[in-house]
Order: sequence, then C-alpha cells, then structure tokens
Amino acid sequence: MPTGPKHVHCYLVEGTLFDTGLGLGEAPWGSAGIERIAITHFHPDHVGGAAAAAEASGAPVYQGGLDYAQCERVWGSDDWPERIAEWFIRNGVPPAVSDELIESGHVFADFVRFAWNPTLVEPGDEIDGWRVVATPGHADGHLSLHRGDVLIAGDTLLTPITPAIGLYPESRPDPLGDYVDTLGRLADLAPRISYGGHGAPVGRPAERCAETIAHHEDRLDRTAAALGATPRSGFDVSHDLFGHELPAIQRRFAVAETLSHLERLVSLGRAERGGDDRSVTYTPRFAGGRSPL
Ligand SMILES: [Zn+2]
Repeated sequence: MPTGPKHVHCYLVEGTLFDTGLGLGEAPWGSAGIERIAITHFHPDHVGGAAAAAEASGAPVYQGGLDYAQCERVWGSDDWPERIAEWFIRNGVPPAVSDELIESGHVFADFVRFAWNPTLVEPGDEIDGWRVVATPGHADGHLSLHRGDVLIAGDTLLTPITPAIGLYPESRPDPLGDYVDTLGRLADLAPRISYGGHGAPVGRPAERCAETIAHHEDRLDRTAAALGATPRSGFDVSHDLFGHELPAIQRRFAVAETLSHLERLVSLGRAERGGDDRSVTYTPRFAGGRSPL
C-alpha cells in the first residue's frame, strides 16, 4: 500500500478468500483456487480488489448488508467527497484542508473497484462453515469470521498497531462505544488465534482485546483533558492528540478519530456537544453538572 501500514493481508483458506486488497496492479486471482470471496468491510484496502478477484475467479462475493450499503454510498456515489468535506467543515476543519479532502476523495473513488450486488450476509449466517460475527467499531458494518478456534478479524483486532476508530457522517453515533462492546464480545468468544488485515497474527486475542480497550481509555482521558471552558471543535482537539503537522489526508483520520472519542465522552456524560448546524463544538461536563473550577 502507498500509505499507512504499507501492506494489507488477504487470506485464502480452503477456497475462501478473505478480503481482496487495494486492487492496484495484478494479482493471481484466476489461478489461486478461489471458490468464494468474503469481505470484512468496505475500506479501500479490503474491498478495492473485489471486482477483479470475482471476475478472474468466477467466485461469488459475500458482504454484510449494512457494510455494502455504506460501500455503495461512499464509493458508488459521485458526491460523497463533497458531503464528507461539508461535514468536516462543520467540525472545524478549515476550507483549504477540506478542499484537499474533496480532491483526494475523488482520486480514491476512481480506483476502488468493489463488486456490485454481492450476496448479502448477516451476523449469524455461515460461509463454508465460517460463522459471521458482527464486529462494529472500525466500520459500522464490519464483520469477522469465526470457525473452530480461529478468527478472521479484518481490522477489528490488530497488533502491534490498533485500528482507526473514526466518526463519519451518516454512520452510527458512537463508534468507539460499539468498538469497546465488540472487543468484549470477542474476548468472550476466546478464539485461539486471530488473523487481522495488518500486522502479525494475534496469538492471545482476549489479552489483545483488553490491551486495546485500555489504550482507548487512556486516549479518552487525554481527549477529556483537552477540553476547557472555551468550546472546541473536533479539529481543534485533534491538534492536542495528534500534533500540528499533518498532511490533509492524515488530518482527516485524526479528526474522525478525535470525534469518535469526543462522542464517546458525550455518551459517558463526560462531555457536552454544543454549537449548531454549521459548527459543532465540545465542552467538558463534570459529575453533578457543576464545574470544579
Ligand atoms: Zn479498514
């Protein structure tokens, strides 16, 4: 991959291909013995090669119902970059930065070749003996696949990095709350090993779930500490958490990640959302509703 962790894993297990990469360049899909394709979530590095893999192998593509709806909305509609840019402006992103987002968004949409009209699956379904498990957080409709004591986790459980948990327009209101809930359920599922989209296989999944929850608790505390008497936007707070020097594309993830933490604080009663349709801001909220200052 050109950015981020620089690579993404696809797994081929007894005829089932899990995820399809970015879809840049040639892949040996036709000769790999693919009988079916399962998509964990609609992000470019997982779904971008789906059309090519399906065409070359003749295999059906399975994707979550909610995930496919978001996939079509983001990659299949012409105005998504404008809509997301507008939303970022409401969260304090300067117009110059959001203009850059619109541009890079259109470039991206051009090479994400997801498979149209896949076979839709829901949590509880099975794909060749793999049980479909809802694992929202990194994406609303993210699915993981569980068979025996093995989990294919997409971007839900990673090591050594942790997946981005961002808030986006037209998606579930508290993705970090969803994610913490997901990690609790995966720890209960207690697979022996978990294979993620990036990094190394996770040998002690339940332990990694606990570490990841602790990581976000720490990030929540840092987010809360960045709030004060003057209302601040998600963009403002992202500078405290991620620094000042970020190119536009990374600022986009930083703001989305900051907003997921701010909205989690709102859900927990530790912060308050204010502002209006044109500008969203956050202030701290203290137990009992009274400021200690
Ligand atoms: Zn992803």
